[in-house]
Amino acid sequence: EAKKLGRSRYRFFSEALEATARARLLLERHIRHALEQRIFEVFYQPMYSFSQGSFCRMEALIRWRQADGSLISPNEFIPVAENTGLIIPLGSHVLQRACLDALKLMRAGFTIPVSVNISAVQFREENFLEMVLGTLNESGLPAEMLELEITEGVLATDMAWTSKVLEELRANGIRVAIDDFGTGYSSLAYLKRLPIDVLKIDQGFVREMLSDKSDADIVHAIVRMGQALNLELVAEGVENEQQARKLMELGCDVLQGYLYARPSPFEELEELLQSQHVKLA
Ligand code: C2E
Ligand code: MG
Ligand code: MG
Ligand code: MG
Repeated sequence: EAKKLGRSRYRFFSEALEATARARLLLERHIRHALEQRIFEVFYQPMYSFSQGSFCRMEALIRWRQADGSLISPNEFIPVAENTGLIIPLGSHVLQRACLDALKLMRAGFTIPVSVNISAVQFREENFLEMVLGTLNESGLPAEMLELEITEGVLATDMAWTSKVLEELRANGIRVAIDDFGTGYSSLAYLKRLPIDVLKIDQGFVREMLSDKSDADIVHAIVRMGQALNLELVAEGVENEQQARKLMELGCDVLQGYLYARPSPFEELEELLQSQHVKLA
């Protein structure tokens, strides 16, 4: 009896695993197809600088629109793209698009650097530097106009490679930000030693900082540490005025979140910048 139960349980699990594997395979095929058909879009979300009183940068965020018009979240397909290696062509596509769009904005009179998310799989790829420098050069965008966002996980592994890549990026004038800061485990020594320009405080801390004192304390500590290491600070996921005011009080100058703008297609971002410009003039 017990044996029978064990067997049926085994069958249940193996069928569930097979179903998951099939779903991933299907998703992989769809990603490949979407790449070939150039279906992926890049949206942009600006970051607001208090001291400048204007938008100072924008983040490129990939979007996958389905036939019915709905969008699939990158949180769903980026992990599959990473596991299948498809993140390599996907990541270059985003970088290329982002450089060209930032250049277009520059020519329209808006000098706003663009920040591009880089997955750890891309970062560790042998040709990563060549890809970045090649794409940047081909686009014609000045290097100071490009920033790359990596996560803490990248810092924690393969120190020799990480510092080589970061040094090269710095030597070429490309800025580097640590995304979702505070969620991983960064050694403070790495932060001090590596050429990093920006810390992006994870939105999880910002979300709860008004109701949870320890989150507010963590944000405060990150800001102080960033200041001590001479890093720029950006807060992600700012949704209301109270959060913005508190962040400003704590010394965080650059804010990103729905309070200022949602990620939007390039044309909409351009309109937003135009209208802000007119308002300021
Ligand atoms: P991330 O880089 O930390 O990006 C921030 C995410 O928070 C974005 O989600 C953005 O739309 C969302 N967000 C912005 N403001 C707010 C806010 O005020 N409230 C809330 N609740 N959310 C806000 P999105 O676009 O779904 O991207 C999710 C993640 O997918 C990104 O997190 C990034 O890790 C990854 N990703 C997106 N595009 C790319 C890409 O081109 N390449 C790679 N490798 N990863 C990407
Ligand atoms: Mg990011
Ligand atoms: Mg983030
Ligand atoms: Mg994230």
